[in-house]
Amino acid sequence: MPVRESLQAARTHGATRWQRKVQAYRVEIMTDRYSRQVLFSGIGAAGQEKVRRGRILLVGCGALGSVIAEILVRAGIGRITIADRDYIEESNLQRQALFTEEDCRSGLPKAVAAARHLRAINSSVDIYPEVLDVRASTIEALVREQNIILDGTDNFETRYLLNDASLRWNIPWVYGACVGAYGMSVAFIPYVTPCLRCILPLLPPPGSSPTCDTVGVIGPIVHVVGALESAEALKLLTGQGNQLNRKLVTMDLWTNQLAAMDLSAQKPDSDCQACGQGKLEFLDGLHEGHADMLCGRNAVQISRLVPRPVDLEAIAKRLSELGPVTHNEFLLKAKIGELELALFRDGRAIVKGTQDFGEARRVYSRFIGD
Ligand SMILES: [Zn+2]
Repeated sequence: MPVRESLQAARTHGATRWQRKVQAYRVEIMTDRYSRQVLFSGIGAAGQEKVRRGRILLVGCGALGSVIAEILVRAGIGRITIADRDYIEESNLQRQALFTEEDCRSGLPKAVAAARHLRAINSSVDIYPEVLDVRASTIEALVREQNIILDGTDNFETRYLLNDASLRWNIPWVYGACVGAYGMSVAFIPYVTPCLRCILPLLPPPGSSPTCDTVGVIGPIVHVVGALESAEALKLLTGQGNQLNRKLVTMDLWTNQLAAMDLSAQKPDSDCQACGQGKLEFLDGLHEGHADMLCGRNAVQISRLVPRPVDLEAIAKRLSELGPVTHNEFLLKAKIGELELALFRDGRAIVKGTQDFGEARRVYSRFIGD
């Protein structure tokens, strides 16, 4: 029986005051935008209220981040902070589901464009875009007061940093990764489950594993892994850690292989450098360089140890004497010979068209300064 009619029937048949109250409450939640989620027994009205109070840090808003952000913003979380260091390019549109051709033409940073689309999807969610590189020097301000950290990154340096941050500030985080048609995901609860470094003690050497740059990536796997991460986030937000998938799930959507390594019997490893020995060296910045290769980009990122704001307009004017320059309030792009330089307000730059750290650094020092 439809809810409104059932409420009418309850009145007609002399239902008690309590029954009428329950019916009225049902009308409220059934007509609410979250009704289908509230109907789901794993969430219910009480769970929805917890979701509404949930605070998420999403690190990386490319392919995985787009999927995760959309699912959780539609689910009605309270607040999401989206940290991303990159801007949108045409080659992103094949799989980065939040972005449009217009975003690409506008040269917007991903965090800013994502926030605009997400606000149009659900205006009741507080959305904070942060255009920055998540590093040892920037992460504390981002993780403060968050309930969960979600991995939308494309590199292990940042994931090890997230793992350290999760341990220091006692915040669960959900790992996810994709390349080709292959993907994996698992949730980590500090000092309860093994941490990332219990499973993978050492940072894989550069070039040792396939990347989106070398073998590409297809949209479907991104959506599957993004969905897995989001489901774990909903369980955590609603206080149902017991429902978490305690398996490291891996799958290949092309060769149809699906595997799950059961971690449920594993405790945090007392020999683990991070959770066992308390050496949070990624948080101490011991592994950070000033230049990083970017996944899938034929590009090098140049960062300052401490972000230092630059005057984009003045630099754009100066560089325009050398070649075409475009800029908006977030970044400028300049063509310098065969290279393209994108400079952000915090002084960080992405030099596109090279994988040579030295060349990228030379371009930065020569045209932006030290
Ligand atoms: Zn560990």
